[in-house]
Order: sequence, then structure tokens, then C-alpha cells
Amino acid sequence: MTDQHRPRPYESYVYAYPHKTAYRPLPDRPVLADEWAGESKDALSLYVHIPFCEVRCGFCNLFTRIGAPDELTTRYLDALDRQASAVRDALGDAEPVRFAAAAFGGGTPTFLDAGELERLCDIAEKRTGADLRAVPLSVETSPSTATADRLAVLADRGATRLSIGVQSFVDAEARAAVRPQRRAEVEAALGRIRDARVPVLNIDLIYGIDGQTERSWRHSLDAALAWLPEELYLYPLYVRPLTGLGRTGGDGDRAEDDGAWDARRLRLYRQGRDHLLAEGYEQVSMRMFRRPGSPAEGPGDHACQTDGMIGLGCGARSYTSRLHYSFDYAVEMREIRTIIDAYTGTRDFSRAEVGHRMDGDGDEARRRHLLQSLLQARGMETADYVARFGTGPADDFPAELARFEAYGWLDAGAGPGLLRLSPEGLAHSDALGPALFSPAVRAAMAAYALK
Ligand code: SF4
Repeated sequence: MTDQHRPRPYESYVYAYPHKTAYRPLPDRPVLADEWAGESKDALSLYVHIPFCEVRCGFCNLFTRIGAPDELTTRYLDALDRQASAVRDALGDAEPVRFAAAAFGGGTPTFLDAGELERLCDIAEKRTGADLRAVPLSVETSPSTATADRLAVLADRGATRLSIGVQSFVDAEARAAVRPQRRAEVEAALGRIRDARVPVLNIDLIYGIDGQTERSWRHSLDAALAWLPEELYLYPLYVRPLTGLGRTGGDGDRAEDDGAWDARRLRLYRQGRDHLLAEGYEQVSMRMFRRPGSPAEGPGDHACQTDGMIGLGCGARSYTSRLHYSFDYAVEMREIRTIIDAYTGTRDFSRAEVGHRMDGDGDEARRRHLLQSLLQARGMETADYVARFGTGPADDFPAELARFEAYGWLDAGAGPGLLRLSPEGLAHSDALGPALFSPAVRAAMAAYALK
């Protein structure tokens, strides 16, 4: 297989299937109580989305706005309160309702002050019934918002994992990624997080930044390792439409063409992976590395193949076995502000507005299961797949699997009954994931007008 026949290694990061750009307004605005009737609800995941940040990083296409004027955070929490009550009503009491995991993401949840974080936890506990101190609770934070008083609230309310986006320990690289921060601020924030004694610290780093070299990448990796983080995520830089870097026409004035940039990112990926493996870390997925002996407290890089996700907030998704739903989605700042304002003005949260119909155990569910299992370093037991769907992955996806094999992406030594990626397959996760999208999802994503 020559290189020109291989897909490019960085097509897209597949952390959920289908992507939100395949969602559409649901014309019948289905009633949530009907959608949740008959669903299994004894191990739900709760995700609460806080769409505020102090700055907008140049690479970020997440649903978030800069700052929150005029008591907007209060109005947002009021709306979350109404939504959480409506969703709990929709879950009903016919079957037991229990949450097995919770996460606050964003945005930057610690953009909220300590009192607002208390209120956020109250909403999660009192409205939905989630027992935050009894389940893994993961919270995202940033260097400038990880203040001692906020971290104390989170630790007291049961946070088991704090995830901080550092991206680079080199100030010039942070600037190049349009994430202005100083190394000293980052180190101080990490010190406060360790003082808060939350069991799992995750640090996010990015490779492929303009001006980043093997040497400076190693410097960032070692600076992160000095904190003995239980988890490390290594993200390739993407320059996406409508983001800060996308608007300036790329990663600053990157001198290299796309092929050279791909090659540099692959080199830095392999360097980072090999360094962390040599330090004793275990690779969980292309991006995620875990220190042995660390509790697997967070959601990990593993979106559960089964369903039962309750998302609260205007950027959060919810999943039942037959419907994935959310609110409208945008990347551009003015559009995001409009959607957040509409969310805070909503009184009736009893219906799903925007989403994608799933097909029970049909083709899309099979793709989702295969995709989300195969992108984990440990691979997929084919028996689990057969038990769920009645057929094997090779029956359902012969062409795709043959292609992956020809690319050298499957581990020939995995043994019968296990479908596992080779190291090169893992390195190409962002090409392999999109190759499993269905034609219908691909068409919906292509037709989506990004705003
Ligand atoms: S990367 Fe994180 S901190 Fe930066 S703008 Fe996006 S959500 Fe906010």
C-alpha cells in the first residue's frame, strides 16, 4: 500500500457518533417522556455543559463564549435548574433511575465562581437525584480559573477528577495557539489542584503548534510529567473553519504544506507516545495515557457503547437507544451568543429540539459500537459485538475491515476473538474513525452549513 493511497492521518476527532453536524431540527419536537419510556435508567451518565470561557483559544471549536455579561451565569443556572427538573420528570418513576457517573464540561465550568459551583452541584443533586459524592465526578478547568476556593467546593462536593487544558508549557507556543498564558500561572494552578487532593489529575497537551519542535515538545511533556498526572491527553492540533486559527488562514503563517504538517504531527505523536510509554504510562487510546495504578475515575476517552446519557445545558447531548438530541450548534461567536440567550429564555424543556434518530440495533448502532470500541487501545472482543447484534463485525463491515488490514492498522497478533488496532492503526485513529461513518451520516455532515 503506497502512501498516496492512504487517507490523511488527521481527518477528524471522533469522540461521539454521529457528530453534532449530522443533527437536524426534529420536526415533531418529540416529548422526552415518550423517548425515555422503556429505556434502561439504572446506570445513567450525567453531563452538564457550562458554555463560558475567559478567552477563546485559537484551535477551539467547542460550544463556548467569552465572558458572561449582565448576570448571564445566573440566568444560565436558572435555565439549567428548569431543564434538570423537566428532564427528571421525563425519566419518570416507573423504573429505578440511578446515575453512575457525572461530568461538568464546557467551556470552562470553573468560569463559575465558588458560590455558583455550589449551586451547580445542588442542581445536579437535588433536581436529577445524582449522588455526586458516590459516583465518579469529572470537572474541566483552566489555569486562570482553577482558584483555591472553587477547587475546594469541587473537592468537597465529590469531584474525583480534574482535567486542565495546558496545551503547552512554552509561553511562545501558547501564544501561537492563541491561548495566552504564562508558565508560572500554569505551575501555580497545578499546585492548587494538587493541594485540593482530588484523586485524578488530567493534563491536556497539544502537538503540531507553529514553531513547536521535538525539543520543545519534550520540554512540555517533561514539565507535565513532573506533576505525576494520573492521566495525560495528547491532542493533535487541528485548524478548523470559523475558529480563531481558521480565520487567520491557518496556524499563524505556517510555513509547511499540509503534507509536511501531517508528517510533523505524526512524528510528534510517536515521540510523545514513546516517551510516555517509557515513563510507564499505559496507552488507553490515541490521545489518552494513564499512569498505572491510577483509578479509572473519569469518563476516559471512552464514550460508552450503550446509551443512557443525560446532557444538561445548551451544548450538551443526550442519548437514548433511539434518539441522540441536543440544542442548536454553532462555532461562530455571535451565533453561540444567540443560542445561549435562547436557552436562558426557555421555559419548556419537555421536548427534544435538534437531534438524530438512531436505529435501535441497526446499522448506525453497529457502526457506533465498532467505532467506539476499536478506537480503544485494548480493542474489541468480537463476542461482545455478536452478543449484542447477532452477527460479527466481519459480517457487517467486511470492506472496511479489509481496508484497515491492508493499511496495516489491525494488530495481526491480537488472536482470535479480539479486534485490536496496531500501533500504526492507533496513530491513524482520526482517519479510521471517519472511515466508519455511514453514507447517510457523511451526507448529513457534508450538507451542514457551519455557522
Ligand atoms: S479550548 Fe477550552 S478553554 Fe479554550 S476556548 Fe475552548 S473550551 Fe474554552
